[in-house]
Amino acid sequence: MLNLDSCRNVLVVGYGVSGKSAYEFLKKRGLNVSVYDDRDEEIPDRVADAQCRDFDVVIKSPSIPFMSHNCHSVIKEANEAAIPVLSTFDVFRIYNQNAKIIAVTGTNGKSTTTALICHIMRKAGFSAEMGGNIGVPYFDMPEAEWYVLEMSSYELASSQYLGFEIACVLNIEPDHLAFHGNLASYTSAKHKVLEHAKFRFISYEDKITMARYASGENVVTISTQNEPNSDIYVCENAIFNNFTNRIAVNLSVFPNLPGKHNHQNIAFAYAICKHLGLKSREIINHISSFVPLPHRLNTVRKIDDVVFVNDSKATNPGAAARALATFVGYKIYWLVGGRSKKVDPMPYIKDYISGVQKIYLFGESMDEFEGIFEGIKKTVRCQTMMTAINMAYKDAKLDSVAAVVLLSPMCASFDQFESFEHRGNEFVRIVQELD
Ligand code: ADP
Repeated sequence: MLNLDSCRNVLVVGYGVSGKSAYEFLKKRGLNVSVYDDRDEEIPDRVADAQCRDFDVVIKSPSIPFMSHNCHSVIKEANEAAIPVLSTFDVFRIYNQNAKIIAVTGTNGKSTTTALICHIMRKAGFSAEMGGNIGVPYFDMPEAEWYVLEMSSYELASSQYLGFEIACVLNIEPDHLAFHGNLASYTSAKHKVLEHAKFRFISYEDKITMARYASGENVVTISTQNEPNSDIYVCENAIFNNFTNRIAVNLSVFPNLPGKHNHQNIAFAYAICKHLGLKSREIINHISSFVPLPHRLNTVRKIDDVVFVNDSKATNPGAAARALATFVGYKIYWLVGGRSKKVDPMPYIKDYISGVQKIYLFGESMDEFEGIFEGIKKTVRCQTMMTAINMAYKDAKLDSVAAVVLLSPMCASFDQFESFEHRGNEFVRIVQELD
Protein backbone atom coordinates (compact mmCIF):
# COMPACT_ATOMS: atom_id res chain seq x y z
CA MET A 1 0.00 0.00 0.00
CA LEU A 2 1.09 3.51 -0.72
CA ASN A 3 2.60 5.42 2.20
CA LEU A 4 0.43 8.53 2.09
CA ASP A 5 2.32 10.27 4.88
CA SER A 6 5.35 10.38 2.62
CA CYS A 7 3.43 12.15 -0.18
CA ARG A 8 4.20 15.85 -0.37
CA ASN A 9 1.20 17.10 -2.29
CA VAL A 10 -2.21 15.46 -2.28
CA LEU A 11 -5.18 16.41 -4.46
CA VAL A 12 -8.72 15.52 -3.35
CA VAL A 13 -11.13 15.53 -6.29
CA GLY A 14 -14.74 16.26 -5.31
CA TYR A 15 -15.67 18.16 -2.14
CA GLY A 16 -18.89 16.39 -1.17
CA VAL A 17 -19.44 14.61 2.15
CA SER A 18 -16.72 11.97 1.53
CA GLY A 19 -14.18 14.27 -0.13
CA LYS A 20 -14.51 16.91 2.60
CA SER A 21 -14.02 14.31 5.31
CA ALA A 22 -10.92 12.88 3.56
CA TYR A 23 -9.55 16.40 3.07
CA GLU A 24 -9.99 17.27 6.76
CA PHE A 25 -8.49 13.96 7.91
CA LEU A 26 -5.37 14.30 5.76
CA LYS A 27 -4.97 17.95 6.62
CA LYS A 28 -5.01 17.07 10.33
CA ARG A 29 -2.24 14.55 9.69
CA GLY A 30 -0.15 17.46 8.39
CA LEU A 31 -0.27 16.63 4.66
CA ASN A 32 -0.31 19.34 2.06
CA VAL A 33 -3.82 18.87 0.64
CA SER A 34 -5.54 20.72 -2.22
CA VAL A 35 -9.07 20.30 -3.50
CA TYR A 36 -10.55 20.28 -6.98
CA ASP A 37 -14.30 20.54 -7.48
CA ASP A 38 -16.36 21.46 -10.56
CA ARG A 39 -18.95 23.32 -8.46
CA ASP A 40 -18.79 27.03 -8.04
CA GLU A 41 -18.71 27.11 -4.23
CA GLU A 42 -16.39 28.31 -1.53
CA ILE A 43 -13.95 25.47 -0.94
CA PRO A 44 -10.72 25.55 1.12
CA ASP A 45 -7.33 25.01 -0.57
CA ARG A 46 -9.04 24.98 -3.92
CA VAL A 47 -7.06 24.64 -7.12
CA ALA A 48 -8.90 26.34 -9.95
CA ASP A 49 -7.72 24.31 -12.87
CA ALA A 50 -6.13 21.27 -11.37
CA GLN A 51 -2.57 20.89 -12.46
CA CYS A 52 -2.45 17.20 -11.67
CA ARG A 53 1.16 16.89 -12.58
CA ASP A 54 2.02 18.89 -9.44
CA PHE A 55 0.57 16.22 -7.16
CA ASP A 56 1.98 12.92 -5.86
CA VAL A 57 -1.40 11.31 -5.42
CA VAL A 58 -5.02 11.98 -6.33
CA ILE A 59 -7.90 10.97 -4.05
CA LYS A 60 -11.19 10.56 -5.83
CA SER A 61 -14.60 11.08 -4.21
CA PRO A 62 -16.95 8.13 -4.87
CA SER A 63 -19.23 9.82 -7.42
CA ILE A 64 -16.46 11.21 -9.67
CA PRO A 65 -16.63 9.15 -12.88
CA PHE A 66 -13.38 7.47 -13.84
CA MET A 67 -14.17 4.84 -16.45
CA SER A 68 -13.13 5.19 -20.08
CA HIS A 69 -16.64 6.16 -21.31
CA ASN A 70 -17.10 8.99 -18.78
CA CYS A 71 -13.73 9.74 -17.17
CA HIS A 72 -13.50 13.11 -15.41
CA SER A 73 -10.86 15.33 -17.02
CA VAL A 74 -8.80 15.59 -13.82
CA ILE A 75 -8.69 11.82 -13.37
CA LYS A 76 -7.80 11.43 -17.03
CA GLU A 77 -4.93 13.83 -16.62
CA ALA A 78 -3.71 11.97 -13.51
CA ASN A 79 -3.85 8.65 -15.36
CA GLU A 80 -1.88 10.07 -18.28
CA ALA A 81 0.77 11.39 -15.90
CA ALA A 82 0.87 7.99 -14.08
CA ILE A 83 -0.12 9.59 -10.78
CA PRO A 84 -1.79 7.08 -8.44
CA VAL A 85 -5.55 7.61 -8.05
CA LEU A 86 -7.00 6.30 -4.79
CA SER A 87 -10.56 6.07 -3.52
CA THR A 88 -11.57 7.45 -0.13
CA PHE A 89 -11.91 3.81 1.01
CA ASP A 90 -8.28 3.20 -0.02
CA VAL A 91 -7.25 6.06 2.25
CA PHE A 92 -9.24 4.55 5.12
CA ARG A 93 -7.52 1.18 4.58
CA ILE A 94 -4.06 2.74 4.43
CA TYR A 95 -4.55 4.12 7.93
CA ASN A 96 -6.57 1.15 9.30
CA GLN A 97 -4.74 -1.88 7.97
CA ASN A 98 -5.80 -4.16 10.82
CA ALA A 99 -9.42 -3.05 10.92
CA LYS A 100 -11.99 -5.84 10.83
CA ILE A 101 -14.46 -4.83 8.17
CA ILE A 102 -17.88 -6.22 7.31
CA ALA A 103 -18.78 -4.93 3.85
CA VAL A 104 -22.39 -4.77 2.76
CA THR A 105 -23.35 -4.21 -0.85
CA GLY A 106 -26.20 -4.92 -3.27
CA THR A 107 -28.62 -2.80 -5.28
CA ASN A 108 -31.22 -2.41 -2.53
CA GLY A 109 -31.21 -2.95 1.20
CA LYS A 110 -27.59 -1.95 1.86
CA SER A 111 -28.28 0.81 4.39
CA THR A 112 -30.92 -1.14 6.27
CA THR A 113 -28.74 -4.27 6.48
CA THR A 114 -25.62 -2.28 7.44
CA ALA A 115 -27.49 -0.48 10.22
CA LEU A 116 -29.16 -3.69 11.40
CA ILE A 117 -25.90 -5.66 11.61
CA CYS A 118 -24.17 -2.81 13.46
CA HIS A 119 -27.13 -2.47 15.86
CA ILE A 120 -27.16 -6.21 16.69
CA MET A 121 -23.38 -6.26 17.17
CA ARG A 122 -23.36 -3.24 19.45
CA LYS A 123 -26.24 -4.59 21.53
CA ALA A 124 -24.33 -7.87 21.83
CA GLY A 125 -21.33 -6.01 23.22
CA PHE A 126 -19.10 -5.72 20.14
CA SER A 127 -17.11 -2.57 19.56
CA ALA A 128 -18.66 -1.71 16.18
CA GLU A 129 -19.17 1.42 14.07
CA MET A 130 -20.91 1.86 10.75
CA GLY A 131 -20.05 4.11 7.84
CA GLY A 132 -19.41 4.47 4.13
CA ASN A 133 -22.26 5.04 1.73
CA ILE A 134 -24.74 5.06 4.61
CA GLY A 135 -23.85 8.73 5.06
CA VAL A 136 -21.09 8.53 7.67
CA PRO A 137 -17.71 9.09 5.97
CA TYR A 138 -14.99 6.62 7.01
CA PHE A 139 -12.94 9.30 8.74
CA ASP A 140 -15.89 10.46 10.85
CA MET A 141 -16.33 7.04 12.48
CA PRO A 142 -15.02 6.71 16.03
CA GLU A 143 -12.32 4.09 16.45
CA ALA A 144 -13.69 0.56 16.84
CA GLU A 145 -12.67 -3.08 16.56
CA TRP A 146 -15.26 -3.76 13.85
CA TYR A 147 -16.46 -1.51 11.06
CA VAL A 148 -19.70 -2.32 9.24
CA LEU A 149 -19.41 -0.48 5.93
CA GLU A 150 -21.99 0.11 3.25
CA MET A 151 -20.02 -0.10 0.02
CA SER A 152 -21.43 1.51 -3.12
CA SER A 153 -20.64 0.18 -6.58
CA TYR A 154 -18.89 3.50 -7.29
CA GLU A 155 -16.51 3.04 -4.38
CA LEU A 156 -15.91 -0.65 -5.06
CA ALA A 157 -15.17 -0.09 -8.73
CA SER A 158 -12.45 2.47 -8.03
CA SER A 159 -10.81 0.99 -4.90
CA GLN A 160 -7.57 -0.97 -5.03
CA TYR A 161 -6.91 -1.78 -1.35
CA LEU A 162 -10.02 -3.84 -0.67
CA GLY A 163 -9.86 -6.32 2.21
CA PHE A 164 -12.76 -7.59 4.30
CA GLU A 165 -13.34 -10.06 7.09
CA ILE A 166 -16.90 -10.60 5.83
CA ALA A 167 -18.71 -9.37 2.71
CA CYS A 168 -22.22 -9.76 1.42
CA VAL A 169 -24.03 -9.02 -1.84
CA LEU A 170 -27.75 -8.76 -1.10
CA ASN A 171 -29.05 -8.57 -4.67
CA ILE A 172 -28.08 -7.18 -8.08
CA GLU A 173 -30.57 -5.35 -10.31
CA PRO A 174 -29.89 -2.75 -13.04
CA ASP A 175 -28.97 0.62 -11.48
CA HIS A 176 -26.34 3.35 -11.95
CA LEU A 177 -25.83 2.22 -15.54
CA ALA A 178 -24.81 5.70 -16.75
CA PHE A 179 -21.86 5.59 -14.32
CA HIS A 180 -20.80 1.98 -14.97
CA GLY A 181 -21.62 1.86 -18.68
CA ASN A 182 -23.50 -1.44 -18.56
CA LEU A 183 -24.90 -4.11 -16.25
CA ALA A 184 -21.84 -6.37 -16.59
CA SER A 185 -19.54 -3.63 -15.34
CA TYR A 186 -21.94 -2.78 -12.47
CA THR A 187 -22.07 -6.48 -11.52
CA SER A 188 -18.26 -6.78 -11.60
CA ALA A 189 -17.99 -3.79 -9.27
CA LYS A 190 -20.34 -5.47 -6.79
CA HIS A 191 -18.44 -8.76 -7.08
CA LYS A 192 -15.14 -7.09 -6.13
CA VAL A 193 -16.41 -7.12 -2.55
CA LEU A 194 -16.56 -10.94 -2.59
CA GLU A 195 -13.17 -11.36 -4.23
CA HIS A 196 -11.49 -9.57 -1.35
CA ALA A 197 -13.36 -11.16 1.57
CA LYS A 198 -12.54 -14.07 3.89
CA PHE A 199 -16.21 -15.03 4.32
CA ARG A 200 -18.90 -14.40 1.71
CA PHE A 201 -22.67 -14.21 2.05
CA ILE A 202 -24.64 -14.30 -1.20
CA SER A 203 -28.23 -14.53 -2.39
CA TYR A 204 -29.42 -17.89 -3.72
CA GLU A 205 -31.77 -16.06 -6.10
CA ASP A 206 -28.92 -14.06 -7.67
CA LYS A 207 -28.04 -16.50 -10.47
CA ILE A 208 -24.91 -14.74 -11.75
CA THR A 209 -23.37 -14.38 -8.30
CA MET A 210 -24.29 -17.98 -7.46
CA ALA A 211 -22.68 -19.27 -10.66
CA ARG A 212 -19.45 -17.43 -9.91
CA TYR A 213 -19.10 -17.89 -6.16
CA ALA A 214 -21.39 -20.60 -4.70
CA SER A 215 -18.89 -23.42 -5.12
CA GLY A 216 -16.03 -21.50 -3.47
CA GLU A 217 -14.85 -21.81 0.11
CA ASN A 218 -16.37 -19.91 3.02
CA VAL A 219 -19.58 -19.08 1.17
CA VAL A 220 -22.99 -18.97 2.81
CA THR A 221 -26.05 -18.87 0.53
CA ILE A 222 -29.28 -17.19 1.62
CA SER A 223 -32.64 -17.67 -0.09
CA THR A 224 -35.77 -15.60 0.39
CA GLN A 225 -37.81 -17.99 -1.72
CA ASN A 226 -38.12 -21.13 0.33
CA GLU A 227 -35.17 -22.88 -1.33
CA PRO A 228 -34.16 -25.74 0.99
CA ASN A 229 -30.83 -26.25 -0.82
CA SER A 230 -29.71 -22.85 0.40
CA ASP A 231 -27.72 -22.72 3.66
CA ILE A 232 -30.22 -20.30 5.14
CA TYR A 233 -33.66 -19.71 3.71
CA VAL A 234 -36.86 -17.84 4.34
CA CYS A 235 -39.80 -20.24 4.41
CA GLU A 236 -43.24 -18.69 4.92
CA ASN A 237 -42.67 -16.31 7.80
CA ALA A 238 -39.58 -17.92 9.27
CA ILE A 239 -35.84 -18.23 8.67
CA PHE A 240 -34.64 -21.82 8.48
CA ASN A 241 -30.98 -22.53 9.23
CA ASN A 242 -29.66 -25.63 7.43
CA PHE A 243 -26.47 -25.61 9.54
CA THR A 244 -28.49 -26.23 12.71
CA ASN A 245 -31.42 -27.86 10.91
CA ARG A 246 -33.84 -25.60 12.74
CA ILE A 247 -36.28 -22.77 12.32
CA ALA A 248 -34.19 -19.95 13.77
CA VAL A 249 -36.26 -16.78 13.47
CA ASN A 250 -40.00 -16.10 13.39
CA LEU A 251 -40.26 -13.18 10.98
CA SER A 252 -43.81 -12.17 11.89
CA VAL A 253 -42.64 -10.48 15.09
CA PHE A 254 -40.78 -7.55 13.52
CA PRO A 255 -43.28 -4.77 12.67
CA ASN A 256 -40.25 -2.44 12.59
CA LEU A 257 -39.07 -4.12 9.34
CA PRO A 258 -42.17 -4.60 7.14
CA GLY A 259 -42.36 -6.33 3.77
CA LYS A 260 -40.74 -9.40 2.25
CA HIS A 261 -37.73 -7.42 1.07
CA ASN A 262 -36.87 -6.81 4.71
CA HIS A 263 -36.88 -10.59 5.24
CA GLN A 264 -33.83 -10.62 3.01
CA ASN A 265 -32.14 -7.92 5.06
CA ILE A 266 -32.97 -9.73 8.31
CA ALA A 267 -31.79 -13.09 6.90
CA PHE A 268 -28.40 -11.64 5.87
CA ALA A 269 -27.98 -9.85 9.21
CA TYR A 270 -28.94 -13.06 11.04
CA ALA A 271 -26.49 -15.18 9.00
CA ILE A 272 -23.61 -12.77 9.53
CA CYS A 273 -24.26 -12.36 13.25
CA LYS A 274 -24.54 -16.14 13.64
CA HIS A 275 -21.16 -16.42 11.94
CA LEU A 276 -19.81 -13.97 14.55
CA GLY A 277 -20.92 -16.43 17.24
CA LEU A 278 -24.13 -14.84 18.48
CA LYS A 279 -27.04 -16.99 19.65
CA SER A 280 -30.30 -16.90 17.66
CA ARG A 281 -32.30 -15.72 20.69
CA GLU A 282 -29.90 -12.83 21.22
CA ILE A 283 -30.08 -11.83 17.54
CA ILE A 284 -33.91 -11.91 17.58
CA ASN A 285 -34.07 -9.67 20.68
CA HIS A 286 -31.77 -7.14 19.10
CA ILE A 287 -33.63 -7.11 15.76
CA SER A 288 -36.78 -6.26 17.74
CA SER A 289 -35.18 -3.14 19.19
CA PHE A 290 -33.89 -1.89 15.80
CA VAL A 291 -35.28 1.54 14.89
CA PRO A 292 -35.86 1.60 11.11
CA LEU A 293 -34.01 4.17 9.01
CA PRO A 294 -36.05 7.13 7.74
CA HIS A 295 -37.32 7.40 4.12
CA ARG A 296 -37.69 3.63 3.70
CA LEU A 297 -41.37 2.69 3.75
CA ASN A 298 -42.09 4.80 6.83
CA THR A 299 -45.74 5.48 7.67
CA VAL A 300 -45.87 9.21 8.14
CA ARG A 301 -49.52 9.84 8.96
CA LYS A 302 -52.98 8.32 8.78
CA ILE A 303 -55.99 10.53 8.02
CA ASP A 304 -59.17 8.45 8.40
CA ASP A 305 -58.57 5.49 6.07
CA VAL A 306 -55.71 7.05 4.12
CA VAL A 307 -52.15 6.12 5.06
CA PHE A 308 -49.22 8.26 3.84
CA VAL A 309 -45.96 6.39 3.28
CA ASN A 310 -42.52 7.90 2.69
CA ASP A 311 -40.29 5.60 0.63
CA SER A 312 -38.16 8.37 -0.87
CA LYS A 313 -35.09 6.08 -0.81
CA ALA A 314 -36.74 3.89 -3.48
CA THR A 315 -34.66 5.37 -6.30
CA ASN A 316 -34.96 2.45 -8.73
CA PRO A 317 -37.79 0.17 -9.98
CA GLY A 318 -36.57 -2.82 -7.93
CA ALA A 319 -37.01 -0.92 -4.68
CA ALA A 320 -40.37 0.55 -5.69
CA ALA A 321 -41.63 -2.94 -6.62
CA ARG A 322 -40.96 -4.02 -3.01
CA ALA A 323 -43.05 -1.09 -1.77
CA LEU A 324 -45.96 -2.04 -4.05
CA ALA A 325 -45.65 -5.67 -2.89
CA THR A 326 -45.81 -4.56 0.74
CA PHE A 327 -49.16 -2.83 0.10
CA VAL A 328 -50.94 -5.64 -1.74
CA GLY A 329 -54.62 -5.40 -0.68
CA TYR A 330 -54.52 -1.60 -0.44
CA LYS A 331 -55.66 0.90 -3.03
CA ILE A 332 -52.41 2.58 -3.95
CA TYR A 333 -52.11 6.22 -5.06
CA TRP A 334 -48.54 6.17 -6.30
CA LEU A 335 -46.21 9.19 -6.53
CA VAL A 336 -43.51 8.65 -9.15
CA GLY A 337 -40.84 10.92 -10.59
CA GLY A 338 -37.49 12.64 -10.44
CA ARG A 339 -34.34 11.91 -12.42
CA SER A 340 -34.98 8.67 -14.27
CA LYS A 341 -32.64 5.67 -13.97
CA LYS A 342 -33.61 4.72 -17.55
CA VAL A 343 -34.56 1.21 -16.54
CA ASP A 344 -37.85 -0.29 -17.79
CA PRO A 345 -39.91 -0.66 -14.59
CA MET A 346 -42.51 -3.10 -15.96
CA PRO A 347 -40.58 -6.37 -15.39
CA TYR A 348 -40.23 -5.39 -11.72
CA ILE A 349 -43.67 -4.01 -10.96
CA LYS A 350 -46.02 -5.97 -13.27
CA ASP A 351 -47.04 -8.45 -10.55
CA TYR A 352 -47.95 -5.72 -8.08
CA ILE A 353 -49.44 -2.98 -10.20
CA SER A 354 -53.06 -4.15 -10.04
CA GLY A 355 -53.61 -2.36 -6.71
CA VAL A 356 -52.40 0.95 -8.12
CA GLN A 357 -55.36 3.29 -8.76
CA LYS A 358 -53.50 6.17 -10.37
CA ILE A 359 -49.93 7.34 -10.81
CA TYR A 360 -49.10 10.96 -9.96
CA LEU A 361 -46.06 12.11 -11.95
CA PHE A 362 -43.67 14.90 -11.02
CA GLY A 363 -40.19 16.07 -11.94
CA GLU A 364 -38.20 15.83 -15.17
CA SER A 365 -39.23 12.23 -16.01
CA MET A 366 -42.97 12.98 -16.46
CA ASP A 367 -42.95 12.42 -20.24
CA GLU A 368 -41.01 9.18 -19.96
CA PHE A 369 -43.36 7.64 -17.37
CA GLU A 370 -46.46 8.93 -19.12
CA GLY A 371 -45.31 6.92 -22.16
CA ILE A 372 -44.40 3.81 -20.12
CA PHE A 373 -47.75 3.64 -18.30
CA GLU A 374 -49.93 4.58 -21.28
CA GLY A 375 -52.70 2.01 -21.65
CA ILE A 376 -51.62 0.33 -18.38
CA LYS A 377 -52.51 2.81 -15.63
CA LYS A 378 -54.01 6.25 -15.50
CA THR A 379 -51.35 8.92 -14.93
CA VAL A 380 -51.71 12.53 -13.77
CA ARG A 381 -49.09 15.16 -14.64
CA CYS A 382 -48.40 17.10 -11.45
CA GLN A 383 -45.02 18.85 -12.08
CA THR A 384 -44.24 19.09 -8.36
CA MET A 385 -44.39 16.59 -5.51
CA MET A 386 -46.61 18.98 -3.55
CA THR A 387 -49.26 18.92 -6.29
CA ALA A 388 -48.88 15.15 -6.54
CA ILE A 389 -49.54 14.73 -2.79
CA ASN A 390 -52.60 17.01 -2.86
CA MET A 391 -54.11 15.35 -5.93
CA ALA A 392 -53.43 11.84 -4.64
CA TYR A 393 -54.99 12.67 -1.26
CA LYS A 394 -58.06 14.18 -2.92
CA ASP A 395 -58.61 10.93 -4.84
CA ALA A 396 -57.65 8.61 -1.98
CA LYS A 397 -60.09 10.08 0.53
CA LEU A 398 -62.98 9.26 -1.79
CA ASP A 399 -62.17 5.57 -1.24
CA SER A 400 -63.95 3.97 1.66
CA VAL A 401 -61.40 1.16 1.97
CA ALA A 402 -57.76 1.14 3.04
CA ALA A 403 -55.89 3.54 0.78
CA VAL A 404 -52.22 4.46 0.70
CA VAL A 405 -50.60 7.55 -0.75
CA LEU A 406 -47.18 6.15 -1.52
CA LEU A 407 -44.05 8.12 -2.36
CA SER A 408 -41.84 5.41 -3.89
CA PRO A 409 -40.53 7.44 -6.82
CA MET A 410 -38.24 4.97 -8.72
CA CYS A 411 -35.96 7.93 -9.54
CA ALA A 412 -33.07 9.91 -8.15
CA SER A 413 -34.06 13.20 -6.54
CA PHE A 414 -31.52 15.63 -7.97
CA ASP A 415 -33.77 17.36 -10.54
CA GLN A 416 -35.92 19.05 -7.87
CA PHE A 417 -34.28 18.21 -4.52
CA GLU A 418 -30.82 18.12 -2.97
CA SER A 419 -31.06 14.46 -2.00
CA PHE A 420 -33.50 11.64 -1.28
CA GLU A 421 -33.51 12.83 2.36
CA HIS A 422 -34.55 16.33 1.28
CA ARG A 423 -37.32 14.88 -0.90
CA GLY A 424 -38.51 12.62 1.95
CA ASN A 425 -38.44 15.44 4.50
CA GLU A 426 -40.48 17.61 2.16
CA PHE A 427 -43.01 14.79 1.76
CA VAL A 428 -43.32 14.51 5.55
CA ARG A 429 -43.68 18.27 5.97
CA ILE A 430 -46.37 18.60 3.29
CA VAL A 431 -48.30 15.58 4.59
CA GLN A 432 -48.20 16.90 8.19
CA GLU A 433 -49.72 20.16 6.98
CA LEU A 434 -52.68 18.51 5.17
CA ASP A 435 -56.12 19.36 6.62
P1 ADP B 1 -29.79 0.97 -0.22
O1 ADP B 1 -28.87 1.52 0.80
O2 ADP B 1 -29.21 -0.22 -0.94
O3 ADP B 1 -30.38 1.99 -1.13
P2 ADP B 1 -31.97 0.90 1.72
O4 ADP B 1 -31.95 -0.01 2.90
O5 ADP B 1 -31.66 2.33 1.96
O6 ADP B 1 -31.01 0.30 0.61
O7 ADP B 1 -33.38 0.80 1.00
C1 ADP B 1 -33.58 1.47 -0.24
C2 ADP B 1 -34.92 1.14 -0.84
O8 ADP B 1 -34.96 -0.24 -1.19
C3 ADP B 1 -36.11 1.37 0.08
O9 ADP B 1 -37.16 1.83 -0.73
C4 ADP B 1 -36.41 0.01 0.65
O10 ADP B 1 -37.77 -0.14 0.99
C5 ADP B 1 -35.99 -0.94 -0.48
N1 ADP B 1 -35.36 -2.16 0.02
C6 ADP B 1 -34.79 -2.35 1.23
N2 ADP B 1 -34.27 -3.59 1.32
C7 ADP B 1 -34.49 -4.19 0.14
C8 ADP B 1 -34.17 -5.49 -0.40
N3 ADP B 1 -33.52 -6.40 0.31
N4 ADP B 1 -34.56 -5.74 -1.68
C9 ADP B 1 -35.21 -4.82 -2.40
N5 ADP B 1 -35.57 -3.60 -1.96
C10 ADP B 1 -35.20 -3.28 -0.70
